[in-house]
Amino acid sequence: MAKINLDPKKTPMPEQSAQVRRTNFSEVAQGYDLAAAISEANRCLNCPDMPCVSGCPVNVSIPEFIGKIKSGDIEGAYRVISHASCLPAVCGRVCPQESQCEARCKRGIRGETVAIGRLERFAADVHAENANTECGTKNPQSPPKVPDGAPRVAIIGSGPSGLACAGDLAKMGYTVSVFEALHTVGGVLSYGIPEFRLPKSIVKREADELRALGVEFNTNVIIGKTLGVDELFEMGYAAVFIGTGAGLPTFMGIPGEGLCGVYSANEFLTRVNLMGAYREGAATPVMRGGNVAVVGGGNVAMDAARCAVRLGASRVYIIYRRSEAELPARREEIHHAMEEGVEFIFLASPAEIIGEGGYVKAARCVQMELGEPDARGRRAPHPIPGSEFELPLDTVIMAIGTSPNPLIKLTTEGLDTNARGCIVADGETGKTSREGIFSGGDAVTGAATVISAMGAGKRAAAAIDEYIKSKA
Ligand code: FAD
Ligand code: SF4
Repeated sequence: MAKINLDPKKTPMPEQSAQVRRTNFSEVAQGYDLAAAISEANRCLNCPDMPCVSGCPVNVSIPEFIGKIKSGDIEGAYRVISHASCLPAVCGRVCPQESQCEARCKRGIRGETVAIGRLERFAADVHAENANTECGTKNPQSPPKVPDGAPRVAIIGSGPSGLACAGDLAKMGYTVSVFEALHTVGGVLSYGIPEFRLPKSIVKREADELRALGVEFNTNVIIGKTLGVDELFEMGYAAVFIGTGAGLPTFMGIPGEGLCGVYSANEFLTRVNLMGAYREGAATPVMRGGNVAVVGGGNVAMDAARCAVRLGASRVYIIYRRSEAELPARREEIHHAMEEGVEFIFLASPAEIIGEGGYVKAARCVQMELGEPDARGRRAPHPIPGSEFELPLDTVIMAIGTSPNPLIKLTTEGLDTNARGCIVADGETGKTSREGIFSGGDAVTGAATVISAMGAGKRAAAAIDEYIKSKA
C-alpha cells in the first residue's frame, strides 16, 4: 500500500500514538503550542495576491490572521478569523484544507504548504482558554442587544448551515429561533463526526457563543411533525431558513441488508457519538467486537471504521470499489485509519450479505476493475466475472452516501426539490420556490462539507436581511 506523504515541511502536530488511541475516544491531534504556532506562522510569505483566501468558501483573511500569530497577538488572530467564520475551532479541525485554502497556498508549488488549518485551530483554542479564565474577549463582535419587536427568523436544523445563518442574523439584530429535531444541537458535528476528531465540548462552546448573541435553541422539535413550516409563519416569523442537511442513508439494495448487524453509517455513528454506545451499559448500545466491514471510502467510512476499532473489533475492513488513488476521504483521516490498523480492500464490492440465525455471518464480495474515465474524469468500476470471494464478518456498516430527508418537502406546499430530493435554492441567496423560505447546506447540495454549509448559511442570512428590509 502506498505511503501517504503528509506535508513533511509543516511544523509537526503532536498526536496520540496509534497504539494508545486505538483504545480511547479522546482527541487524536493535540494542537500546537505557542512556539510551534509562531514557527509555522513564520513560514507564511504574506503573499499580496492572497491566493489562499480565494480557496476558502467563507473568505477568511488568512495572511492577516497568520500575521497576528507571527506577532504573538493570538486574540487578534481569532478576531480576524471569527469575522468570517462562526466555527473556527470546528473548521480548524475538520475542514478539508488540502483541497481548499492550502491547495492554493503559494508555498504548495514546492510541496511546502503552510498549515493554515492547524493555525486556525490554535487561535480558536487559545481564545477559548482565555475566555475560560476571563482574560479574553468572550464575543469579539460584542453582541448587539436584540431590540424589542425585532423581526423574528426561524432556522430549521442546527448544523453548520443553520448555526452560521443564525449567528449572522443575530449579529444584525434579528430575534433568531433555531428548531432542532434531535436533543442536542450541532447537526453532523454532534451526531456524526466522532469525539476523537471533534470533541463535543467544542461544538457546545461554539453553540454557547451563539446563545450569548441571543440565539434561542428549541431541541426535540421536528419541523414537518411537531410543527409545520407554514405554522412558523403563522407564529409570526418573517422568514424561515431550512438547513436540515442530508441525513437519509443510502443502502446498496443487495440481499441480506435486513440482517441484524447491518447498520447505516449514520445510525452507527449516532449510536456511538450521540447516545454514548461506547460506554458500558449504554441505553442505546451498538454491536461490538468481531469482524467489521465498512463499505465506502469517504470521511464517513473512515469515521465509522475508526469507531469500530475503538469499540474493540478484532478486524476492521474498508471495502472500496475503486482504488486507493480515488479514495474521497481526507488524506489525514486515511492516514490515521491505516495507522490504527484498519485494513483496506480496494477494487471490491459486496454482492450479498450472508446470514445465520438472522445475524450477519459473512459478505460475498466481487473484485472490480476500473474502466475508461467518464466525462468528469472518473473511472467507473466494473465487476470482474468469476472473482467472488467470501469475507467472514459480524457487522457491516454502509457508508455509501446520504440524501436529504423528504419530510419538509412532503409537508410544505410549493417547495420545489430536484430529482435527488435536494431543495432547489439559489446558490447566492438561498431563495427557494416559496417566498420568505431560504435554504442552504447539504439540504440543497447533497452531502458536502462543513465550510460550504456555513458559507451557504451566511449568504442566506444576508439575503434574509435584504428580504425582510424590502418588506418593511
Ligand atoms: P447537518 O449538519 O446535517 O445538520 C442538519 C440538522 O438538521 C441536524 O441536526 C438534523 O437533526 C436537523 N434536522 C433535519 N431535519 C429536521 C427537521 N425536520 N426539523 C428539525 N431539525 C431537522 N465535512 C467536513 O468538512 N469535514 C469532515 O471531516 C467531515 N466529516 C464528516 C463525517 C461524517 C460522519 C458525516 C456524516 C459528515 C461529514 N462531513 C464533513 C460533512 C459535513 O458534516 C456536512 O456537510 C455538514 O454538517 C452539513 O451541514 P448542514 O448544516 O447542511 O446539515
Ligand atoms: Fe501565506 Fe500560503 Fe496564503 Fe501565501 S498563499 S499568504 S504563503 S498561506
